Amino acid sequence: MIPGEFDYTRPGDLDAVLKVLKEREGEAKLLAGGHSLLPLLKFRLAAPAVLVDLRGVTGLDGISEEDGELRIGALATHRQIHEDPSLAGAYELLRDAAGGIGDPQIRNWGTIGGSCAHADPSADYPAVLIATMATVVCRSADGERVVPAREFFTDTFTTALEPNEMLTEVRFPRPGPRSGSSYTKIERRAGDFSTVGVAVQLSLAEDGSIADVGIGLTAVADSPFAATDAEAALRAASPDNDDALRRAGAAAAAQSSPTTDSHGPADYKRALVAELTVRAVKRAVERARSAR
Ligand code: FAD
Repeated sequence: MIPGEFDYTRPGDLDAVLKVLKEREGEAKLLAGGHSLLPLLKFRLAAPAVLVDLRGVTGLDGISEEDGELRIGALATHRQIHEDPSLAGAYELLRDAAGGIGDPQIRNWGTIGGSCAHADPSADYPAVLIATMATVVCRSADGERVVPAREFFTDTFTTALEPNEMLTEVRFPRPGPRSGSSYTKIERRAGDFSTVGVAVQLSLAEDGSIADVGIGLTAVADSPFAATDAEAALRAASPDNDDALRRAGAAAAAQSSPTTDSHGPADYKRALVAELTVRAVKRAVERARSAR
């Protein structure tokens, strides 16, 4: 329960953070909200030689729209995201997800950058990023890369981030007209990680059919993933065609590979994926219709 020894530094700006990551490549861990990292340190599952506290870095918690994208700084907390009125409407699923993470203490401290970098296979934001075709900005002292979310979450607790990089921003393309989104999760008890989580972002064509749709699933595989078969089943379908929605739910369940654990048996989770996919699509359609 007592972490091993490490050096501690609290840089005052991003350049200083990137300098440490370059000079101590592979030895450093960034500390954001600490809700995932501190338990790992205490159990000695992580033993960095240097801890880089991000609390002194300003200007990385902004939420703004620029060049047709919503840009959220890595240090924006779950609470900020949940409570930001500018996300109402176009980015509703982000507010759904942020408001359902953990408990108030987690939401006050935990950050979107920390959550995405940590890449817990049951975390909520990754499914949202995948559904919305978001991109992730990875910065090092040598420059910047913008990585599509569908390529960022590579495995359990593993991302495309290099050891000398910091995740600085997440960018969400602004949805077009007649768009709606939703994030739906089931948790065993309030404050638990998702047993299953489904994120949906869709747009309707002028004739009311589904023009495009992105679906991200969490907690039912080694890492969050795009339910591409369900997406294909829904494209051009009528959102009022219950059979099409059920086929999409079944396709999402078939693409999942949940494990039996304290949250429930694998078959139960697969059934939840099918049901929650239908519910999340219906909610997103309702929102798209009211956005007209
Ligand atoms: P930290 O713990 O500070 O860091 C996590 C990891 O990311 C570390 O390896 C750190 O080095 C790295 N890191 C942090 N920031 C960056 C960055 N900008 N660039 C690169 N690397 C970085 N999450 C959910 O999604 N849903 C839940 O329902 C949920 N419930 C929770 C319940 C409990 C009781 C707890 C303790 C956590 C829960 N979480 C949940 C996780 C929570 O959202 C964490 O806040 C989040 O996973 C990590 O964010 P953090 O800011 O605390 O990161």
